[in-house]
Amino acid sequence: MTIKDKVIVITGASSGIGKATTELLAKSGARLVIGARREDDLKEIADEFPKGQIIYQKTDVTDRASVKSLVGYAATHYGRVDVLYNNAGLMPISELADLKVDEWDRMIDTNIKGVLYGIAAVLPIMIRQKHGHIITTDSVAGHVVHPGTAVYAGTKYAVQAIMDGLRQEQVANNIKTTMISPGAVNTELFSTISDEKTRAQIEKDEKENGLDAEDVARAVAYAIDQPDKVAINEILLRPRSQK
Ligand code: NDP
Repeated sequence: MTIKDKVIVITGASSGIGKATTELLAKSGARLVIGARREDDLKEIADEFPKGQIIYQKTDVTDRASVKSLVGYAATHYGRVDVLYNNAGLMPISELADLKVDEWDRMIDTNIKGVLYGIAAVLPIMIRQKHGHIITTDSVAGHVVHPGTAVYAGTKYAVQAIMDGLRQEQVANNIKTTMISPGAVNTELFSTISDEKTRAQIEKDEKENGLDAEDVARAVAYAIDQPDKVAINEILLRPRSQK
């Protein structure tokens, strides 16, 4: 199966990496089922392509039933799910001593539990199919920690562990796993940083030096477009100028 034959579900598809990936895969002929909270933005993306190629559903990945419903929509509509791309995420970074505990909760709920809910929704389907591919947007922050990124990096380290456990457990069912681990990418992600000074600095750096979301989308497409026997377990990509 090449990309054009696949049914692909993507969370966090309303902006940034999820949106760019949806558009690239749709141009390659895939059938997409996309979710995020901003339904109008999903509709706008779907409307760029022939009717029915991209279908969408308002989805909150912190709500298990909502993620199950998105994956169920794909399975009912197409009779199968070939790829689930768990991409939704938040990054309200701050130092631990600032005690932004609500933001810690939101990151854990979205970046970790959101991924787990995606896995819970799709795994029974893929086990039944005896084939599938689960992709997650991890991060360079899943490999290194800096002051201010402890909780965000913690969520991405957790995703590394979850995905590697999943990979080992599902070999026999022909289910592949991929982590896409970008460095800085110029997207809306930084709008979730509540400290204005930090946000302004990071936004400036990303605009000047970050990858474009399309650069990451090409990495996702590469991982999807492999022969059945090839599993790309992780792609780590940084802007050339990032240390
Ligand atoms: P964006 O902010 O542009 O995209 C984030 C997406 O996640 C949006 O579509 C947003 O949609 C969605 N989202 C957030 N919360 C929820 C939720 N509760 N339920 C459903 N969807 C949700 O940023 P990016 O494209 O950069 O982020 C995508 C992923 O990439 C994240 O996992 C992020 O951690 C990761 N990443 C980003 C890097 C970067 O430098 N930008 C670097 C490394 C990793 P909506 O608001 O409509 O719900």
